[in-house]
Amino acid sequence: MNEKIKGTICKCGMLQQYVTDPIKLFIYDADRDMIALVLNDGVSLPFAFCHFCGGNEMGPTAKGILSCQCNALSLWVKDSNNPLVYNNEFNEYRIVHLGVELYFYYCPICGGKLPESKRSELYVEPLPEEIESINQKIKGVNNIGDIVKLLGEPDEVFGPPVIDTQIGGIYGQKNIKQIVIYNSLAKTCNLLVQEYEDGKIELIISPKTKGQQLH
Ligand SMILES: [Zn+2]
Ligand SMILES: [Zn+2]
Repeated sequence: MNEKIKGTICKCGMLQQYVTDPIKLFIYDADRDMIALVLNDGVSLPFAFCHFCGGNEMGPTAKGILSCQCNALSLWVKDSNNPLVYNNEFNEYRIVHLGVELYFYYCPICGGKLPESKRSELYVEPLPEEIESINQKIKGVNNIGDIVKLLGEPDEVFGPPVIDTQIGGIYGQKNIKQIVIYNSLAKTCNLLVQEYEDGKIELIISPKTKGQQLH
């Protein structure tokens, strides 16, 4: 594949990476020298701009970018062959395909910024003292067994999630064995523990949604 694709403007490299991905959501269209989205009926739709960075160095957080004027995506979501969907609750365009979620920050046709997601509005602002208190409790803990000894049985247990090793390999992710969630430790945040296949764990303190907030 051509190292510098001229037809599709992307600064982050994500589209190039997707072309090599076994999920085959994107292909390289050599005739146009563009990266194209593969629709359910096999037709491919070339991207003039990357949906993630919009061709901006700053990526999805770039400020002062003109918003999309072409409204191409409102037509895409009406096409049953197009995997793009619009989520009204979050005000987001996204593709969910074989376990991969792709959020659209920019219009792939005109490069304009898409409307801000409402996702963050649905979450509460975690209290710094609650984050600190959880961090103190779990300090130095490095396996699920010790977490359970310290905090008791988790409120929710998920696993093992299905992550394709081939895809995981490309994105440098390790397979996750299980995820446990403690949601009664604090009023504003949850503790999520991911345990990987090698027994290592990752601790994530995440904000509660406004509906989950404890009073
Ligand atoms: Zn990009
Ligand atoms: Zn547009």
